[in-house]
Amino acid sequence: MTNQKYIALIDCDSFFVSCERRRNPELNNIPVSVVSGERGCVISRSKEAKMLGVPMGIPLFQAVEKYPECIYISANHYVYTKISKQVMSILKNFSPNTEVYSIDEAFVDFTGLTKLYKKNYYKLAEELQKKIFEETGIPVSIGVSRTKTLAKLASDKSKSYRTHICLASKSRIKEILSHTEIQEVWGIGRRLGVKLRGLGVRTALDFVEKDDEWIKKRFGKNGLATKAELMGTIISPVSDEIELPKSISDTKSFLEFSSDLQFLKNELSGHIHETCSRLRKINCKCGTIGVMLKTKDFQTLYEKVRLNVPSDFEFDISRAAFPVLERMYNSGILYRSVGIVLEDFNRNEEEQLQLFNDNEKREQNEKLGRSLDKLEQKFGRNIVRTGFTKDVPFKQGFLTKPKEV
Ligand SMILES: [Mg+2]
Repeated sequence: MTNQKYIALIDCDSFFVSCERRRNPELNNIPVSVVSGERGCVISRSKEAKMLGVPMGIPLFQAVEKYPECIYISANHYVYTKISKQVMSILKNFSPNTEVYSIDEAFVDFTGLTKLYKKNYYKLAEELQKKIFEETGIPVSIGVSRTKTLAKLASDKSKSYRTHICLASKSRIKEILSHTEIQEVWGIGRRLGVKLRGLGVRTALDFVEKDDEWIKKRFGKNGLATKAELMGTIISPVSDEIELPKSISDTKSFLEFSSDLQFLKNELSGHIHETCSRLRKINCKCGTIGVMLKTKDFQTLYEKVRLNVPSDFEFDISRAAFPVLERMYNSGILYRSVGIVLEDFNRNEEEQLQLFNDNEKREQNEKLGRSLDKLEQKFGRNIVRTGFTKDVPFKQGFLTKPKEV
């Protein structure tokens, strides 16, 4: 077969815990769990915490009672995002074809890198693992195989290896599939796993041995794609294009109910600013906006409107949103919250200059928006008062300034 690919999945081990350990080395070698929010659930566990039996998702109050010897740390997503970016940038430097899959996982196309680095695929994985640990302090597991689905499987397997590296070459695929419970396969999960077991499919090998018709009838196109990927045929290539979110929204309940239109507009402006700044981060413009307004009695009003020209800029969004808000508004009603939804995204580079639009003005706006983001990045949120930033100084989660990483 020609054009065989080698795809690696790099998965940070107990990522949030590893980030905490990097900041606090005394947390090494002891049971540690990271908990979402102040009184949330366990979302990341160290190896030692897993060995104690601390389950994923257990509420903190139960965990503390049942596993008092574990240390519980409240999650600091700001820090995790920052460290994640460091890890991902090492990967992107290593191979231009890198797909960030989640905060702690990425696919890297290894194909051809053996020549560049003069190393075989296993040694490539070893080198990358070492580099990431030396430069960021984060331990990673790496699975390398022919497709993303197989790489993901290999990386899961690698967690039980001393080296945390698993190379699932063609000759080993069958054996690995025979040792893989069907629900462990990427994209199958627990619910489909139960259904498949009911049909007598226990392992991944049982699954690929079913003929295409059988799979198609029961699991459609996605089922066939999974079978092909498990057999080494790429259906989903590594793609460095980030998948765009469907929408970006922001809303928050008022401290007190209000029927003051000016107040509603101010609040809406704050949400518009927040969403625009997120939109600029992913380098997109939105074509449609939605305004939501919730009454004291939990009635939700929602109205969408298309923008004449896609935008990521506060003024444009406000200009479209305010008339909508005014239409929905009734001075005799008390409201509890207002919010904005941006959708229908376009990447900036895909956008074409439109003949009849004021491009110079747009460029100015774009520059303005970006400088605002930069200032906020440097000096903290809402440092710049523009008339469309919130009066509330910090959003929850940013109340305490995060420690520098
Ligand atoms: Mg992980």
